[in-house]
Amino acid sequence: MSSESTYGKERNFDKTPEPEFHTQKSPAGDESLFVIQKHDAQQLHFDFRLEIDGVLKSWVLPKGPSMDPAQKRLAIPVEDHPIDYAGFEGVIPEDQYGGGTVMIWDRGSFQNNRIENNQPVSLKQCYEDGKIEISLNGDKISGDFTLVKAKNMDNNWLLIKKGTTDANYDPVSTENRSVVTGRTLKEIENSVK
Ligand code: MN
Repeated sequence: MSSESTYGKERNFDKTPEPEFHTQKSPAGDESLFVIQKHDAQQLHFDFRLEIDGVLKSWVLPKGPSMDPAQKRLAIPVEDHPIDYAGFEGVIPEDQYGGGTVMIWDRGSFQNNRIENNQPVSLKQCYEDGKIEISLNGDKISGDFTLVKAKNMDNNWLLIKKGTTDANYDPVSTENRSVVTGRTLKEIENSVK
């Protein structure tokens, strides 16, 4: 099934404020875009999205990202989202798919670091291989990460911090505001009432 049909099928665009699906060039020009959204749905979680080939490849992080290399965070792959989704912050009606409040928790650019035989490996290939090596450059989250499809884990992936880090920095518990609007989830929720 195509990216568009999966995303579109799950949503009624007369009812949800989310953007409709289309592929597009990055607004970031030569750089690739990443976004992490905090989503207060049935279960509070984080959505991790990387711009690859005109769409946002997407994973659910039940616990959010960790800056500790020892903490491998489960990343459950979900349907591709349109690039415009990186600008979506608001409230999805409760009776709609993914109903709940969405915050743009962090956003920025990322760099593809994967090189094999002295050749850069395209992000598309990295995704297909289940092996993505990137540097994130966000406000809350930055540094090197790998995102790998784990063996024997039902197609799930793991997000792992690489290299040196500040073990005391745990932004998932200390950073509670939108990187774009400075609002908390509660403030976003109240803004549409
Ligand atoms: Mn979500």
